[in-house]
Amino acid sequence: VSYTPASSYTPASGSSVPRLLAVGSGKGGVGKSTLAANLAVAMKRAGVQVGLVDADIYGPSQPRLMGSEGMRPTAREDKLVPVRGVVGIPMLSMGHLAEEGQAIAWRGPMAGNALGQLVDAHWGDVTDLVVDLPPGTGDVQLTMVQRFKPAGAVIVSTPQDLALMDARRAIALFEKVNVPIIGMVENMSGYVCPHCEKVSDPFGSGGAENAAHSLDHPFLGRIPLTLRLREDSDAGAPPAAGEGDIARIFAALAGKVIA
Ligand code: ADP
Repeated sequence: VSYTPASSYTPASGSSVPRLLAVGSGKGGVGKSTLAANLAVAMKRAGVQVGLVDADIYGPSQPRLMGSEGMRPTAREDKLVPVRGVVGIPMLSMGHLAEEGQAIAWRGPMAGNALGQLVDAHWGDVTDLVVDLPPGTGDVQLTMVQRFKPAGAVIVSTPQDLALMDARRAIALFEKVNVPIIGMVENMSGYVCPHCEKVSDPFGSGGAENAAHSLDHPFLGRIPLTLRLREDSDAGAPPAAGEGDIARIFAALAGKVIA
């Protein structure tokens, strides 16, 4: 199944909101937020009117990744007006609403309402919203996916066995509610030593590709473990917005997602 950016679809409520492209993972720390941010940037560079929602409301990291930390969305007619991150991408995150350093500890229904406000906002001419989901495959994720019905999902995993088992659960969750799986991405795949340029595989290699094939889902590509990716991400400068190898990798991924 490939994901075609569409103008917009009309949900049951009658209000027109952009299509949602979910980025999910079976567990945390595998690079889901990094992928969501860079995928959004690469899609924008490919000409898609893309927006970004940080649905990881318990641990929002998109404001930092997208260089919009400290920005505050305004509200108009009871709806939020997104702020703008790198390359002008409209975005919303709980990180823009919560006080810095304040722990967010909501129960399911409240979390759902908060997410509803982030999705049902003034998105203007945005046609496609990349949604950074919370990691995991529990009830919160299931409820979110059921309620917001993404048009497609990209699953990210490291090549490790345990991470892959979790990725399979994430795929099962989307399949359960009939959300098409666009494909799998393998992150932290191969480490290029900055000193000797030798490639090593701290988390193994090829695991996500094998899993994708055995589950009959497309494999979208691999992202290497690089110091630069981590440094640029922490600095709020997603490498997909620049030039070079990493930018090309994300451009190729975006090309497969929107083919
Ligand atoms: P998740 O959203 O799955 O919890 P993150 O995207 O926050 O994961 O990534 C976790 C950490 O790993 C971050 O510090 C991020 O910068 C780093 N990271 C992610 N992918 C890579 C990579 N390919 N190379 C180097 N560091 C990475």
